[in-house]
Parts: sequence; structure tokens; C-alpha cells
Amino acid sequence: MDLGLKNRTVVVTGGSSGIGLATVRAALDEGAKVALCARGANRLHDVAGQLAAEYGAERVLAEAFSVLDADATTTFAAKVADTFGGCDALITNAGQGRVSTFADTSDTDWRDELDLKFFSQINPIRAFQGLLLQSGAGSITAVNSLLAYQPEPHMVCTSAARAGVQNLLKSLASELAPDIRVNSIVLGLVDSQQWQRRFDAREDQSQTRDAWYADLARRKAIPLGRLGRAEEAARALLFLASPAASYVTGAQLEISGGVSRFI
Ligand code: NDP
Repeated sequence: MDLGLKNRTVVVTGGSSGIGLATVRAALDEGAKVALCARGANRLHDVAGQLAAEYGAERVLAEAFSVLDADATTTFAAKVADTFGGCDALITNAGQGRVSTFADTSDTDWRDELDLKFFSQINPIRAFQGLLLQSGAGSITAVNSLLAYQPEPHMVCTSAARAGVQNLLKSLASELAPDIRVNSIVLGLVDSQQWQRRFDAREDQSQTRDAWYADLARRKAIPLGRLGRAEEAARALLFLASPAASYVTGAQLEISGGVSRFI
């Protein structure tokens, strides 16, 4: 199937690692021009250098900043417009989860988490909305978690914030229609730097990577028996973001190996 992304411009927030980087690569494989951002300049520029060598420097734009900085996000959008002439697909992927129960989540933690989850959507969407409108086939595709629908007590504030984000996206799907489609993927457990960090900090340091991941999949009762791969999340994201999904808006696609328990 042709996704219709050739020569289109795709913006991926949090594109230097994990799901974001897999999405950047998938978009470049489809012939798109790609702009990516992340906070860590060193890793971002290493990644951008590799991508430029593989796909051509004229198809890759990378800027280091936090999407929580509204001004920097607006400046990035202007640079994308200058470099590529517009934006057709915004993929809001930047972020991370917070592990904490209600008892050990302070007011500051709550505010930080709500800030991260909401403004990692709001800032890029505000900054790119005008360009997406001009595209004629504009789309916003958010990365969210199954925790929005199936909360976990050990990730209490992340779960609550993610539910709010799904609600926001549903409103935007109406407000921005018919010009810009708004969709999301909701993830279960996908192998990425986040899980690598948790593996590195494992209690039993003698446990191998394969054994630790297999044990995790068993404990989480994932029907497909393993964590997802970043490429598997990327393919779903890119489909929703692309003109191939032209009649899909206000939808969420679960990428979890079947872990949800609701219908
Ligand atoms: P990674 O840690 O591998 O990638 C996260 C990316 O986002 C990095 O490029 C990171 O770079 C960037 N980033 C983080 N915060 C910001 C910020 N404020 N501004 C700009 N860039 C930022 O993790 P994943 O690939 O797993 O995560 C991608 C998304 O998927 C996240 O939103 C995460 O919460 C979500 N998710 C992941 C799940 C999983 O199982 N993997 C499950 C549910 C949701 P840098 O640190 O340099 O800024």
C-alpha cells in the first residue's frame, strides 16, 4: 500500500530514540522529508548525522529543544516552514512515563506530569496548526498509552494525565475537522530506551536481557507473549498520519500485543 507520504513533510517530536526514531526512519523510507527534535543535543545530532548520510541531508532537519518550551517550539515550526515549505503530518511523541503511587506522588510531581503530558501536545499543535491547515492533508497523530483507559496504581498520575490527553485529542478531532485529522496510538509495552533504562536498573544484575524481557511479558500477561518493537509502533503511527488514513479522525489504535481487558 502506498501511504502517500512521498515528498510530504513529517514532524516527529522526540525523534532521537525509541519509537520516535523508528517513526523518523519509517517516514524517510516512505520518501518523506522529516523534521525531528529532542532535548539532548549530542544524541540528536549523532542521529541526524546518520540519517543525513543514509537518506540525504536535504531531507532531514533536527533541532534540540524541549517541547515544553512554547517559544522554541514556535521557532522550530518556522524553521520547518523555511526549510521544507510546510508541514503535512505532526507526530507528537516526545515524553516519558512516571512510576509512582498516589502515596508517593507530591503536588510538584502531579503538576510536572500534567504539564508534560498536556503541553507536549498543546505546544507543538499550536505551533504547527497553521502549517497543517495549509497542507490540505494535515494530520496530528499522538503517542499515548493504554494507561489512559486501563490505569495502573503504580503509575497513578501518568494514567490520569493520559486519560485527559485522550479527551483533549477527541475535542481537537472535532474542532480541527475537516482540515486536520487528529488520531492517536495507545501503547502497551514497547521496547525502547525507557525499558532499557529499567532493565539496566534491574534488581538481579545477573539476569540476561532476553530473560528479563520474557519475564516482564509473562508478568504483564501480554497475549502475544513479548514486548512490542519500536518499528511496530512506528508503522501504526505513520499509517494514521498518512493520506492513506484520509477518513480516520478522532480514533485511537491500540498497539499492545492484546493486553487490554475492555471491549
Ligand atoms: P525513549 O526514551 O526511547 O524516547 C523518548 C524521546 O523523546 C527521546 O528522543 C527523548 O530525547 C525525547 N524527549 C523526551 N522528553 C522530551 C521533551 N520534553 N522535549 C523534546 N523531546 C523529548 O522512549 P519511547 O520511545 O518509549 O517513548 C516515546 C513515547 O511513547 C513517549 O511519549 C512515551 O511516554 C510513550 N510511551 C512509551 C511506552 C513504551 O512502552 N515504550 C508506553 C507508553 C507510552 P531527549 O531525552 O534527549 O529529550
